[in-house]
Amino acid sequence: MGLSEIRERVAKAERDAGRAEGSVNLIAVSKVQPLARVEAVLQQGHRLFGENKVQEARDKWPDFMERYDGVDVHLVGPLQTNKARQAMELFSAIHSVDRPKLAKTLARLAQETGGCPDLFVQVNTGEEEQKAGVLPAEADAFIKEVRDMDLPLKGLMCIPPVEETPSLHFSLLAKIAERNGLEGLSMGMSADFEEAIALGATHVRVGSAIFGERDYG
Ligand SMILES: *Cc1c(COP(=O)(O)O)cnc(C)c1O
Repeated sequence: MGLSEIRERVAKAERDAGRAEGSVNLIAVSKVQPLARVEAVLQQGHRLFGENKVQEARDKWPDFMERYDGVDVHLVGPLQTNKARQAMELFSAIHSVDRPKLAKTLARLAQETGGCPDLFVQVNTGEEEQKAGVLPAEADAFIKEVRDMDLPLKGLMCIPPVEETPSLHFSLLAKIAERNGLEGLSMGMSADFEEAIALGATHVRVGSAIFGERDYG
């Protein structure tokens, strides 16, 4: 695979779903990948990336951002409140807002600095104990809480359980977004981004299908 094939598949999925060309943002999730692979994707003109750890992103992206114009990096992994300030400085979007304490910290920092990345509330659609995100039954109340803090809430994000049919989770997320008047839907990864696009994803997070398998060794 690789970037150009994934771009083509995203475009085809948009067409198949009757959606406008370019309506889906392809986030190239570069966590753990060797810098040379990331740079190759930058050289092909791609500018939207995702990372799941604040420190790893801080080690990698300031240098690339100096050398390539228009780079946007989104945080797609969990955020501890004590890293919120650093995260707000580096990322143009945070996909993992999942608890009042974090939202309050972001709101305080937004007031202090006069800016805030686009925010997505993460919903634990599979109600998995080990996974971050608000439970579906608590989503409406939490979304309201975040909005009442004047934060720039753009949409919702989910990571379906590995052993379940992802489309059920994508539909559930889309339903919660719709009833709350939210347009952003961050859903779909290497194995299922086309299904996510069919169900309304505005942001797909694709790692290994673009860069190759991650080597955690
Ligand atoms: C790593 C990661 C991805 C990308 O996963 P692939 O299966 O490699 O496409 C997407 N979303 C999140 C939150 C991730 O941590």
